[in-house]
Order: sequence, then C-alpha cells, then structure tokens
Amino acid sequence: MEEIKIIPVIIFLGPPGAGKGTQALRLSRVKSIPKISTGDMLRHAVQEDSDLGRKVKSIMAEGALVDDETMLNLVADRIARPDSKDGFILDGYPRNIHQAAQLEKVLRPHMQICVVVIDVPEAEIIKRVAGRRTCPQCERIYNVHFHPPKADEVCDVDGTKLFRRQDDQERVVRKRLTTYRKETLPLIEHYKKRGVLQVVNGVHLEEEVGNAIASQVRC
Ligand code: ADP
Repeated sequence: MEEIKIIPVIIFLGPPGAGKGTQALRLSRVKSIPKISTGDMLRHAVQEDSDLGRKVKSIMAEGALVDDETMLNLVADRIARPDSKDGFILDGYPRNIHQAAQLEKVLRPHMQICVVVIDVPEAEIIKRVAGRRTCPQCERIYNVHFHPPKADEVCDVDGTKLFRRQDDQERVVRKRLTTYRKETLPLIEHYKKRGVLQVVNGVHLEEEVGNAIASQVRC
C-alpha cells in the first residue's frame, strides 16, 4: 500500500518582535518549504500602493488587525501556489480564533498543523523592536543592538539599504502587544488543547533559538 505523506503546515506564534520572521526564514531554508509572512505580504502591497495596500496602510500603522476575509483571501491564494504543495510555514497567520477556523477549511488533505510558539516576555520586546532593521531585498532581519549588519544600515548579503518598519515605534509596538494579548494569545490555548503546540524559549541568541527549533521541534 502506498504510504500517505503528511504535508506540514508549520505555524509560528509569539508576540511581535519574538523572532518569528527570523526563525521562520531559517526553518524554511532547512526544510526547503516556503515561509509565508502575512506582514511581509501586506507591507509589499503598501509599498506598491495597490488596492490592498491602500486599504490596509492605516490599519497597520496603528497596530490593529486587518479584517479576516481580506487575510483569508491573501493566504488562500498564496498556499494554492505550486511551491506550497509539500508544506509551508506561516508567520503572522492565523492571528485570532476565527482566522484559525478559516485556515482549517482551506487546507488540503494530509496537511497537518504544527504550531511553534516563540516565548519572549514583553519587557524584552520593546527593546528588540526598537533596534529592528529589515532588508527589503532578501527579507533578512537585523538588530542594531543584538545582531548588527557588518556595515551600518546595509544588508550583509546584498548591500541593500535596510529599513525600519513604520509600526516599530514604541507607541505602535505597545498597541500591537495589546492586540496580540487580546486576539492572538487565545490561539495558544486553542492549539494546546489540540495537542499540536510546541514552545521554544525565545530569550537566547538567534542561532541558539534556531538550533533549539531544529532539535526540539517535531513537525
Ligand atoms: P508583528 O511583528 O507584529 O508580528 P507582522 O509583520 O506579522 O508583525 O504584521 C504587521 C501588521 O500586519 C500587523 O500589525 C497587522 O496590522 C497586519 N497583519 C499581519 N498579519 C495579519 C493577520 N493574520 N490578520 C490581520 N492583520 C494582520
């Protein structure tokens, strides 16, 4: 009989600035499956000034959530692409219980959810986010305090000028944390009850967290 191949759907959960994007990118390289970041997709739309971009710009700038239907359309389209057929990593989705239910409905047979929580206390978050810089070209994430680029403000890999996210100002980060507590935190309980949750301590160097994910997490 032919063996059924499980298709991993790896969901990264954790507060803003926990390192989800960084670790999701790392794991996507290890596993050769795409990292799908809803935050990155929305930021691209804003940059391109598309209809979607215009719709979400002010919502994102305030640290609130974009509506569930818009997010579902975006994610459903993305995971239907051929590169997602052997699995994918979700960074930033789902972000509330309703989105989690909507996601289940668009998964294909044999897809199995596996959730990785990166645990970082809030006090640490503000410090981290203030120093965060991103490469618009390759999406590598730096931190001027903990993981600086070799040359000031440019990407080590492709030399592109790094940018600072507009929603990384302290006022907006606090709002994003409130949104996280209210909307996203209940997802941890939800996935815990289903027995698909694994927690990793995010208060270590990027590489150590990456190694912990590679060695502890079973997906
Ligand atoms: P964070 O570092 O806060 O996790 P992201 O890059 O994942 O940031 O998301 C940035 C912003 O994009 C969010 O504050 C929100 O406005 C919007 N966003 C991203 N993903 C979602 C989602 N699944 N549902 C609603 N809004 C989202």
